Amino acid sequence: TAPVLEVEGLTKHFSVERGILRRPVAWVRAVDGVDFAIAPGETLCLVGESGCGKSTVARLVLRLTEPTAGAIRLGGTDITALSEAEMAPWRRRIQMVFQDPYASLNPRLRVGQIVGEPLENFEPLSASERAERVGEILAKVGLRPEAANRFPFEFSGGQRQRIGIARALALRPDLIVADEPVSALDVSVQAQVLNLLMDLQEEFGLAFLFVSHDLAVVEHIGHRIAVMYLGRIVEIGPKDEVLGDPKHPYTQALIAAAPVPDPRAKRDRLVLEGDVPSPLNPPPGCRFHTRCPFVMPRCREEEPRLREVGQDHRAACHLLEGG
Ligand code: SF4
Ligand code: MG
Repeated sequence: TAPVLEVEGLTKHFSVERGILRRPVAWVRAVDGVDFAIAPGETLCLVGESGCGKSTVARLVLRLTEPTAGAIRLGGTDITALSEAEMAPWRRRIQMVFQDPYASLNPRLRVGQIVGEPLENFEPLSASERAERVGEILAKVGLRPEAANRFPFEFSGGQRQRIGIARALALRPDLIVADEPVSALDVSVQAQVLNLLMDLQEEFGLAFLFVSHDLAVVEHIGHRIAVMYLGRIVEIGPKDEVLGDPKHPYTQALIAAAPVPDPRAKRDRLVLEGDVPSPLNPPPGCRFHTRCPFVMPRCREEEPRLREVGQDHRAACHLLEGG
């Protein structure tokens, strides 16, 4: 089947300007040539440390920010070249769920207005039809119809995220982009919200681009995983492969550093030393070479490319060559 979303060579560089003349003095290579595709009904998780560019990828896909280069194809159409007016029919097919359900819901609007608002722009419904649709959507996310008359502050964090999900569902999108949608919630509530997203995915055939720094969350919800480091994907593949048999030294280090319930399951600890280098001046060669325990001379000069390391599994590391 054709992918819902296809991203090719996606690149976002920001200029850093100085002085009254605002001369560009440096470029931040936030996203630097990223490729992936998401099939209908599939969840692709983007993982990595903060600053790796995963949120920027999400913002680019939503067209909240313009790419420096590359293509973003929805159902085969490149949306990067479309005007705002031409974007309109695509806007409804791709919706978002934000990290912070406290900040992303207008506190002055009743829940019914919040959830029904997207419908106003796209579907001319009467007030009673809209109220009925809102009630149906609220039921889908596990809220009672009376919730429509209340204000966001009357709900818990988990319930507020359900309201945010209801708003995203209103237009029956093909794809939901979710940036850390459970990281602001209590751990006890996180699984409930993740399970809700998975149920909705099954019912509506939704695809997710799911951004998270939390490997436990990703393991719960992901079908495939893309690991980012300094603006690049360094490993991408099916969840079980990437988490169970990681090929890239960075992925191995991330997994070794993640808290796991069973300490015996922990592999030999591969410690990530030092800070992430600035995306302002990413290191030449392999961007991970300043922290990689296996660094070789060649890694400082030559950038490794993504290569097949298994079924639908690719990683970018010189160690994996020829294998
Ligand atoms: Fe480490 Fe070299 Fe592989 Fe980069 S290419 S991850 S520095 S071994
Ligand atoms: Mg982020």
